[in-house]
Amino acid sequence: MSGKRQNPKDTAPRQHAREQERALLAELAAVYRDVDAAYGAYRCPGTSECCHFAVTGREPYVTSIELAAIERAVAARGGPLAPKKRALPIYPGSSGRRGPNPAPSEYRDERICPLLTREGRCSIYAARPLGCRSFWCHRADVPAEAVSRDALAGFVRRIQTIAQRHRPDGDQGRPLSRALG
Ligand code: SF4
Repeated sequence: MSGKRQNPKDTAPRQHAREQERALLAELAAVYRDVDAAYGAYRCPGTSECCHFAVTGREPYVTSIELAAIERAVAARGGPLAPKKRALPIYPGSSGRRGPNPAPSEYRDERICPLLTREGRCSIYAARPLGCRSFWCHRADVPAEAVSRDALAGFVRRIQTIAQRHRPDGDQGRPLSRALG
């Protein structure tokens, strides 16, 4: 340790960037509230299969600001992802349909989200990205007044606009597993 004092001029830009990010995260939270309200009448059995990307054949895409929200949520629960969960594990095995906490031998190349716990819960639920909030599988109970494609596209646009201000050259939509990698 050098014991050298930090020049306040060096910390000011970082402090400013942090404050700016906080403000943008508040805007993102407002969009998420609108998204959750729009999908409020949807119901699903909560099997967490949608977090097994090879099972659904889909993966949520994230923008830089959504990733920042996830990283803060991971930090708040005690730090970085466990090293073993950083890369999407590919387990050899059999059936794709099973309950939470499966033995590794039960998996079949499911590309499980690294943010899913062994108990089958999203570890950053409140900060999960738009792709997770808006994806409903064939087993979901969809109300007669379903959210339209246009409405969803509007949410995407709002988040991309925030992301653009967050990192003009950053992610405007990248697969979650790659963004976390
Ligand atoms: S972020 Fe959470 S809800 Fe989304 S796929 Fe990962 S574990 Fe599932």
